[in-house]
Amino acid sequence: MTGWLGGLQIRRTDRGQTPVADFLCTACGTYRRITGRDKVRDFVRANPITDHRAHCPANQKGTSR
Ligand SMILES: [Zn+2]
Repeated sequence: MTGWLGGLQIRRTDRGQTPVADFLCTACGTYRRITGRDKVRDFVRANPITDHRAHCPANQKGTSR
């Protein structure tokens, strides 16, 4: 866990009032930000990393790694 290599990161603005989820795919550069407790919860439950990897344009090309 050194630095953020992409994936899902959840932060809270202040005192847990508003969770903010950042999703980043370093392979293709897709970035999304989700704000709001309910939206973040649903987003995390949807397993965005696994879901994205299945559709990631960088994976489809079959590059190394
Ligand atoms: Zn991607």
